[in-house]
Amino acid sequence: MAVSLDLTDPQQRDVLTSRLPTDKPSIIGMSRDELASALEALDIPSRQIRMRVSQIWHWLYVRGVSDYAAMANISRELRAKLSDSLALTRPEIVEEQVSEDGTRKWLFRFPSRGAGRPVEVETVYIPEDGRGTLCISSQVGCTLTCTFCHTGTQKLVRNLTSEEILLQLIVARERLGDFPDQDTPHGTVVPAEGRKVSNIVMMGMGEPLYNFDNVKQALLIASDGDGLSLSKRRITLSTSGVVPMISRTGDEIGVMLAISLHAVRDDLRDELVPINKKHPIRELLAACRAYPGLSNARRITFEYVMLKGVNDSLEDAQKLVGLLKGIPAKINLIPFNPWPGSPYQCSDWEQIEKFSDAVNQAGYASPIRTPRGRDILAACGQLKSDSERMRKTDRLALEAMMIGGHGAA
Ligand code: SAH
Ligand code: SF4
Repeated sequence: MAVSLDLTDPQQRDVLTSRLPTDKPSIIGMSRDELASALEALDIPSRQIRMRVSQIWHWLYVRGVSDYAAMANISRELRAKLSDSLALTRPEIVEEQVSEDGTRKWLFRFPSRGAGRPVEVETVYIPEDGRGTLCISSQVGCTLTCTFCHTGTQKLVRNLTSEEILLQLIVARERLGDFPDQDTPHGTVVPAEGRKVSNIVMMGMGEPLYNFDNVKQALLIASDGDGLSLSKRRITLSTSGVVPMISRTGDEIGVMLAISLHAVRDDLRDELVPINKKHPIRELLAACRAYPGLSNARRITFEYVMLKGVNDSLEDAQKLVGLLKGIPAKINLIPFNPWPGSPYQCSDWEQIEKFSDAVNQAGYASPIRTPRGRDILAACGQLKSDSERMRKTDRLALEAMMIGGHGAA
């Protein structure tokens, strides 16, 4: 059974949720240079600025504090100035669901800040043998309309800010106990290898390369060695194929790349992943071949959703292998995850295995991604945060689909 924490209990809510909408800029998500400029504007002597930036950075990203008052080596006066001018807030946790397989899904509500309106965002944590992957959203909704994706049915509401992207990671770590104990003044830092969130994937809601600047800033902060310190090799950005931004992703962010391929012929990909009409397969694969830093140790992941009778034939598998020739690649086969009203069925398990074998025999790793968290709609492509909560009839229909579906669930 999936469980939801009771966040309607006012006491729990007070602890977990925060604060009032604010128009102050956020300190979370600022680059070091931006933070230095903010300190300058607060009349901090220039000879102190570097040291202050390092101290604050440590509190924010190594210790994970959510209150200026906890920054013990910062003077009371500076803490007051910071608190007056820069927001340090957490999103409201509207819902926290735990799947029967341990997957967790949070619905976060970010307050309005500046011109942006308040938004709700889903983030998913998938545990595995003491480690785990956090699936982070980059936009609320999506401008693209891939026909098999639930998020694609939700219009773009807005891009997330670098603060909102990072806070998904920070609050998940907080909820999972990945920060040192706040009560001990010299609390031990959880070493990288012991962390619950060991990897992140930009595979939640939205197309990250349509929100390049904020995604870049957030990922550079997440991988900063004196802060959250996630290795870039443990960060994967997935794109549906925004070709003009692919080389900049490698040059300026330097994370691992995943491509949502899903079809090997342009006519079919035009239908499934409509951005293909703008940037067809040939152009997409050329950008992949040129991806900075590509090597056998740093391969591109090609994601391929298995849709029964649509893209799952053995000819498709052969064609796939031919297309990827020369690209250090791994092919991730994703059993289609249904959602209320979705127009496809997942391929039969036997067919997925045959497809995987064919790709494997050609020398490519082709793991089949085990669907996780389907009972709480947390699996790939099932996220959709619009405030219309799922109706009971939809929930029942979905359960029926999953029971009647294939053996992968
Ligand atoms: N917009 C980006 C990242 C988010 S989607 C992209 O498209 O790559 C993350 C992955 O889930 C993509 O590969 C996407 O194609 C896949 N996906 C979407 N809907 C799905 C569904 N219903 N079942 C399985 N995978 C799905
Ligand atoms: Fe957007 Fe990715 Fe879903 Fe396509 S698969 S609609 S790009 S989130």
